Amino acid sequence: MLQSGRTIPEGEPGSTPWLQGLIDALVDLSSRDALTGLANRRSFELALAREADRVARSGEPALLLMLDIDHFKRVNDNHGHAAGDEVLRSVATALADSVRPMDLVARVGGEEFAIILPNCPAAFGAAVAERVRRSVERTPVMAGPGGSAIEVTISVGGAFAPQWVRSTPALWIERADQQLYHAKATGRNRVQLEASVASLVSTEEREALFETPHGMEEHDD
Ligand code: GH3
Ligand code: MG
Ligand code: MG
Repeated sequence: MLQSGRTIPEGEPGSTPWLQGLIDALVDLSSRDALTGLANRRSFELALAREADRVARSGEPALLLMLDIDHFKRVNDNHGHAAGDEVLRSVATALADSVRPMDLVARVGGEEFAIILPNCPAAFGAAVAERVRRSVERTPVMAGPGGSAIEVTISVGGAFAPQWVRSTPALWIERADQQLYHAKATGRNRVQLEASVASLVSTEEREALFETPHGMEEHDD
């Protein structure tokens, strides 16, 4: 697990290595979520913008997963806020341990997480999303009364980046969020991925394509 708490930089205070250490620590602090050590919303948004741009240029498939803990309010209500925080940390670890090092796992809201999976074909994406869901389901958090187990599940929604089409990160998030909404509405503790990539380009995305022809010329085949 990545730790957000860094120690005081090494070296003579005021020296170049010490100042560099301080800068590194501050950059780390501004990009990580303090509770879980995952990337925070800010670094998630930067990474997603970079990934959307990369997909538009390379045509490599990429998947965005939005994940939300099921009935998390009940955990806080039944076991207290500290137990809730422990659940958040445990889920964060389960997510980070279920994906590749190149994938970015972020905490984007209270009990909401996101995973960016670059270079991710459709069949692989479905398997990973299911593995992530199962990993959380199989990891009870020992933070109940007297250290008893709290069962935790998540719902997962996912959308692939529309290849060869210049889209916006906001629309990509919106499409993944729609799938998450369906996963919640159809029973929770489940994965729902957008069915097909090419056929589901939204009107806004088509408009974005025509409004921003810049960068598309090289893919005119
Ligand atoms: P659903 O299955 O529909 O997602 O239900 P839910 O209860 O998970 O959703 P809801 O959005 O109603 O509740 C989210 C809760 O998350 C409410 C809020 O108190 C709690 N929460 C948000 N941030 C934190 C945090 O940092 N620590 C703790 N312990 N709780 C938090
Ligand atoms: Mg929520
Ligand atoms: Mg929730």
